[in-house]
Amino acid sequence: MSILQDRDLTSLTIRDLMIPSEKVAHVQLNNPLEHALLVLVKSGYSAVPVLDSTYRLQGTIGKTRILNEILGLEQFEIERLSTLQVQEVMVTDIPRLLKEDTILDGLKALIDYPFVCIVDEEGYFDGILTRRALLKELRKDIYSGKSKN
Ligand code: AMP
Repeated sequence: MSILQDRDLTSLTIRDLMIPSEKVAHVQLNNPLEHALLVLVKSGYSAVPVLDSTYRLQGTIGKTRILNEILGLEQFEIERLSTLQVQEVMVTDIPRLLKEDTILDGLKALIDYPFVCIVDEEGYFDGILTRRALLKELRKDIYSGKSKN
């Protein structure tokens, strides 16, 4: 049964579709890049959130960014994976939403990003909303709409 089925799209909040923080892979500010790359490769994710030691959201880090950072003029400088930390390479200019924001706010952010991070009013990390979760819900809604007609 679709969450959207009996509710107007605009009445849904991020809370209805988000992946909670305990199920989200993340890295920390002072982790070496090597650790971040390992988490990304093992999980298969293109990017993950970066948190500080108190679980406040600080940014995101992805495979492409890491590979670009260690790319020298002619070859990859693999030793940079252990000398650089996540905080030196992460992206900090990212959209952040609250659980109480609407799914339409999420939809807007997901046009440009494959996932968007959810925080509380104090910046503590609550989870993520992914394109996949939103598209799955929309698909269910479209199909259930068709079967009614
Ligand atoms: P998806 O829409 O499921 O393909 O997810 C898009 C992106 O969101 C992935 O490539 C990851 O960067 C991120 N992502 C999805 N699920 C998780 C998770 N459980 N932990 C960390 N990052 C995730």
